[in-house]
Amino acid sequence: MKKQPERSEVPEELKWRLEDIFCSDEEWEKGMSLLSEMTGKMSGYKGKLGDPDILLEAMGSSVEAEKLSEKVYAYAKMRRDEDNANMRHQAMAARALSALVKFEEEVSYMAPELLAIPEEEFASFFDRVEKLMPYKRHLYEIVRKRRYVLSEKEERILALSSEMADGTKNAFSMLNNADIKFGTVIADNEEIEITHARFGLLMRHPDRNVRKETFEVFYRQYEGRKNTLSALLSGSVKGDLFYTRARGYESTLAAALFEDNVPVSVYQGLIEAVNKHIGSLHRYISLRKKAFNIDKVHLYDLYAPIAKDVEFGINYVEASRLIREALAPLGSEYAEVLDEALCGRWIDVMENRGKTSGAYSWGLWSAHPFMLLNWQDNLDNAFILVHELGHAMHSRYSSAAQPYIDAHYKIFVAEVASTVNEALMMAHLIKNADSKEKKAMLLNHHLESFRTTFFRQTMFAEFEADMHAAAQRNEPLTAESIGKDYTGLNSRYHGQDMEIDPQVALECLRVPHFYNSFYVYKYATGFASAIAISRAILEGEAGARERYIDFLKAGGSDYPLEILKKAGVDLTTDRPIMNCINVFDETLSEFEKLLG
Ligand SMILES: [Zn+2]
Repeated sequence: MKKQPERSEVPEELKWRLEDIFCSDEEWEKGMSLLSEMTGKMSGYKGKLGDPDILLEAMGSSVEAEKLSEKVYAYAKMRRDEDNANMRHQAMAARALSALVKFEEEVSYMAPELLAIPEEEFASFFDRVEKLMPYKRHLYEIVRKRRYVLSEKEERILALSSEMADGTKNAFSMLNNADIKFGTVIADNEEIEITHARFGLLMRHPDRNVRKETFEVFYRQYEGRKNTLSALLSGSVKGDLFYTRARGYESTLAAALFEDNVPVSVYQGLIEAVNKHIGSLHRYISLRKKAFNIDKVHLYDLYAPIAKDVEFGINYVEASRLIREALAPLGSEYAEVLDEALCGRWIDVMENRGKTSGAYSWGLWSAHPFMLLNWQDNLDNAFILVHELGHAMHSRYSSAAQPYIDAHYKIFVAEVASTVNEALMMAHLIKNADSKEKKAMLLNHHLESFRTTFFRQTMFAEFEADMHAAAQRNEPLTAESIGKDYTGLNSRYHGQDMEIDPQVALECLRVPHFYNSFYVYKYATGFASAIAISRAILEGEAGARERYIDFLKAGGSDYPLEILKKAGVDLTTDRPIMNCINVFDETLSEFEKLLG
């Protein structure tokens, strides 16, 4: 067995250089003291924000403290991620987190105080004190909620209720992650205990009997708990409804979309456009049926690869080269920054003992972004790298172009940059595949990302909308009513070649996302946006590349829909969705042709 290296054994050039944030732990300590001093000063503005001159001063101090707190926290947390057994860094990360919480507490008076300023008077601030202008958008974002903010007493009651409202989510999580034991299945002559992670792998197993057996064993546990699970899900929806009604939003959907300032029509437009062209997904399901030579496609046939996996042995250096080539269509300026990311020690590449698992990118305003990887020599890791580089480049462009207060992009647009990168790399790989097997595998992989990120998330979004609408009509949400709706959606989305087993009704009861309402549609809109952008760039559409760079530079300087318009994507129309479906259709045709 290969032993994991110690942190000290990893070559320097494959480690990130956190010294670019603080040159030593001692400097970090100085940063902590300064932050504590700055935090202490914030209470001095309390009760005085009605004076625009003092507001200006308070905003300046707050932003400076936030810049520092971002650095202090990132440094300590990433040091800890290098080796979680390092007690010194563990303690530093905990202290940094406390400092952050303390700062948040210290400035928590600001929003209510701003909300208490009469609207007209607030509007006059920006004429009276011109230097407040750079904060205008940000300050208006705070007071935009005015309509939905209640009296101090009522707000207190709502705040007190929040822990109680989380009860259903926590109970679901405990039931789903701790209490349920799925049992075992025999695969490859070995008895395997089914876990959530292994369920995903076993659903990709080439032996259909293994998949079917796993599926049945797995869902038996949910069948036995379906009434409890439905009651929990219903409780979570009712919790949303409670806050929506208490604050006076039109619907739980409108309340959830308010944060990003996304109109309900965009949400509904996504669902309508996908439904209108759902025949494309039916075609894919039919192809699956034909390829597997089966009568009907069951839920347990949906994840198994149609084309055989081909091993791409690709090391880090080769992956870096591949990524440079694949992202060349983004232009020479992008390529230069990309080189900096790959060679400037932004990335912590190798696995080592104690290192945090997985991968992430961490954008900072006062320093370059950092990326954590746990590199393995395969294609999946090359995709992880190009994905995280998408986030990092987005952060780099935003931080360089925007002041701190406007630099941070929202989740709504975050996955666009990473998915554009993935799509460009996929196109490059498909174009240059040197064997039929490789090409088939890549196309299969690509089609699966459309199915799971675009179609499936839209189906989820429609399910959430149905469930919430029923609750709003005061209809009870039971195992039967929830299951019936979800089964109907599955049948409509997948078409006549899909067999709807009784277990399908249980799938919606085990999805943690549904406890975080109206969130998953962003995966679908983000994916569609990225596909539209990458297609325009690859086809050399005039100005497409420049528009995309402008999008990267925009950070959080406007609402997400407005920022996407800069990239040529207008989600208030169905064009990006249609575009995405067209690319799916073309990819599917190519795959069909290749399979013969
Ligand atoms: Zn991501």
